[in-house]
Amino acid sequence: MPENLDYDVVIVGAGPAGLCAGMYAGRAMLKAVLIERGASGGELLNTEIIEDYPGFEHIDGWDLAQKFESHALKFGVEIHRKTVETVRKLDSGTFETITDGGDTYRSPTVIVTAGGTPIKLGVPGELEFAGKGVSYCAICDGAFFRGHTIAVIGGGDAAAEESDFLTRYAEKVYLVHRREELRASKILQKRVFENPKIVPIWNSVVERIDADEQGLVNNIVLRDAITAERRDLTASGVFIFIGFRPNTGIIEGHIGHDSSGYLTTDANMETSIRGLFAAGDLRSQLTRQVTTAVGDATTATIAAEKYLTALKSGQTSPEIAGSGGYAV
Ligand SMILES: Cc1cc2nc3c(=O)[nH]c(=O)nc-3n(C[C@H](O)[C@H](O)[C@H](O)COP(=O)(O)OP(=O)(O)OC[C@H]3O[C@@H](n4cnc5c(N)ncnc54)[C@H](O)[C@@H]3O)c2cc1C
Repeated sequence: MPENLDYDVVIVGAGPAGLCAGMYAGRAMLKAVLIERGASGGELLNTEIIEDYPGFEHIDGWDLAQKFESHALKFGVEIHRKTVETVRKLDSGTFETITDGGDTYRSPTVIVTAGGTPIKLGVPGELEFAGKGVSYCAICDGAFFRGHTIAVIGGGDAAAEESDFLTRYAEKVYLVHRREELRASKILQKRVFENPKIVPIWNSVVERIDADEQGLVNNIVLRDAITAERRDLTASGVFIFIGFRPNTGIIEGHIGHDSSGYLTTDANMETSIRGLFAAGDLRSQLTRQVTTAVGDATTATIAAEKYLTALKSGQTSPEIAGSGGYAV
């Protein structure tokens, strides 16, 4: 077991995954700290209403964030408001988590739950009307557009797949792409072209997003990428899928990841670096939701605890034994 440790576990990021990890770590009586660069809640703070978190038919993102935070604090996790710059593993096996202010936290395990950031278009109206028609999440917000005409921006797999998904709710989906053909895989393209509710708009870039007097999106101004001509597109929703950047740059050294940069883990949420666990949106997986983030975090924290127990018993290459039972 490495010596001179400050904490049993350091958790980076206090979004849903980090707060859930904090709660489980506290309940397991681990000495745990959560390091968060802003307010607790992560993407919940950018989400007006959540309708798909079990037990809450309808809850404000801020309210859910506060409930998560107070639940974690109740079990004794510390929350430090700092930005993590580096997480590195020393030859001794100890992790050092270093903040922008130069503080160093030493621990035998780290759980990274730093999430990711949807790439923005960077046009007027985008940030102003986020949650008022502008969205980056079809599963989360699609149901608010039942019977509406909406636009999806992008040309990759996410844009193609989510356009198709959104036609469950929307009457019509314009798929706006800056090129003349999609980058999406052929199977997804086929689905798009066979769906009569999807209308592709080629060679077009979004110049501005407009809203009505109540601040709800009602129009998109497009510019033709070839002729530079402008046109208005009537739509009450704009779903932007031009990429998502996982916040993994803080990890020093090579770590396993998929082709989009998301961290790959085993079933215990352990990354290719032993003792370093990942949970939530920065992990390579099928979908990214609050439910999946807290599920990952539960597994990661229990696995980290088993890893610590094995380390303390003198194992040099700790086995995380799956009991198949229930943690309490
Ligand atoms: C607009 C929008 C609407 C959504 N709506 C829904 C919905 O209705 N239902 C649903 O289930 N899901 C929804 N989601 C998805 C859901 O919010 C995410 O899946 C979930 O928040 C992921 O949790 P996380 O903890 O992995 O990451 P995040 O929520 O991204 O949290 C990561 C945290 O890490 C912190 N952090 C990052 N880097 C550092 C650093 N270097 N140092 C310190 N702190 C750091 C961040 O500040 C942040 O607080 C929505 C997402 C968006 C963007």
